[in-house]
Amino acid sequence: MNKINLFKHELLKWSKKNKREYSWRYSNDPWKILLLEIIAQQTQLDRANIYYEKFIKRFPTPKEMSIVTKKEILSLWSGLGYNSRALRLHEASKILSKKSFDSIYPNFEVLPGVGKYTKNAILSFAYKEKVIAQDTNVVRIFSRFFGTKNPESFIEENEKILLKNIQSRKFNEALMDFGSKICKSKNPLCDSCLLEPNCKKFFQDTKHAQSAFKGSSREIRGKIIKYLINNENVEISSLNKTLEIEDSKIKPIIKKLADEGLVNIKNKKLIEISS
Ligand code: SF4
Repeated sequence: MNKINLFKHELLKWSKKNKREYSWRYSNDPWKILLLEIIAQQTQLDRANIYYEKFIKRFPTPKEMSIVTKKEILSLWSGLGYNSRALRLHEASKILSKKSFDSIYPNFEVLPGVGKYTKNAILSFAYKEKVIAQDTNVVRIFSRFFGTKNPESFIEENEKILLKNIQSRKFNEALMDFGSKICKSKNPLCDSCLLEPNCKKFFQDTKHAQSAFKGSSREIRGKIIKYLINNENVEISSLNKTLEIEDSKIKPIIKKLADEGLVNIKNKKLIEISS
């Protein structure tokens, strides 16, 4: 068996026993896939799934989401962070309330928040296309196992062979689970990995660790949005005291939130979530 076939064989064998069960894994509804994929960006899958279940219950189709306020979306999103993802999802729902997924197929990147990875996830899970959804987990596994510095090109060049005689969905799901449970970013479980005997174990220096959350702009943004979800027409001049954040730190963040359309500033004095 050549190395690619061996990789496929062993990975799918592992997945049979270790597949994580989520409701959306049994759906080919592109709205459900989009919802999950946007929520899961920068969020662990188990946690993303909790939010997914809340969102799909409230917004079973794009139409229901398209007619609510930003405030309601942000309120449901609260705790996930990276609030701009919620706004992009909201914008996407407005487009999808007028145009079906089929009518924009396969150009899903016309939707806000959809990049190459999410596009391929929709193509694979909802349309059964033979494509590999490459996220950081996936490229890491390929890089380590095949010993390549350019895993993205390696995957593209070998996509047909990798997906020959298998459903792309099965393969993509197996990669996601394997990258999360075994070939993890930090401390991979090589000792208990069934790919170990043939793995090049090519570990590249990854200096992409997230900066500390405490005191970061991300934390401050989250605090401001959370406060504004529960309060209307808040005086900007009092926000730093209320949230106990230095004035010099809070002002540029408020400006950025306004530039991104997350908040609305009235008469340079009052702030609220954009409608
Ligand atoms: S042996 Fe280690 S590096 Fe190689 S695939 Fe398994 S977990 Fe990843």
